[in-house]
Amino acid sequence: MESKFTEAYQKAPDEGYETDCSKVSEMLDLVIDGEATSEEEKFFNTHLEECVSCFESHQKQKLLKGIISGHLKRVIVPESLALSIRAKIQETL
Ligand SMILES: [Zn+2]
Repeated sequence: MESKFTEAYQKAPDEGYETDCSKVSEMLDLVIDGEATSEEEKFFNTHLEECVSCFESHQKQKLLKGIISGHLKRVIVPESLALSIRAKIQETL
């Protein structure tokens, strides 16, 4: 029982140690800007499927970038929705 606990504990991401999550967060900007290689993007997308926290930060970043650069206009989003999304993002940041 004890060894199981230790094992789980050691798997927790250490600061400074490069985990999938930290790789993904480094890739975030590249992927959003469309500058990631297809390999990076594949790794990124695979990770998002199994990691909720990275998925959420990706969604947040994407929305933020979209709002900032006006990309949301390409998608049909009512102004009121864009505003409420922006408010939500500011709440959670
Ligand atoms: Zn992650």
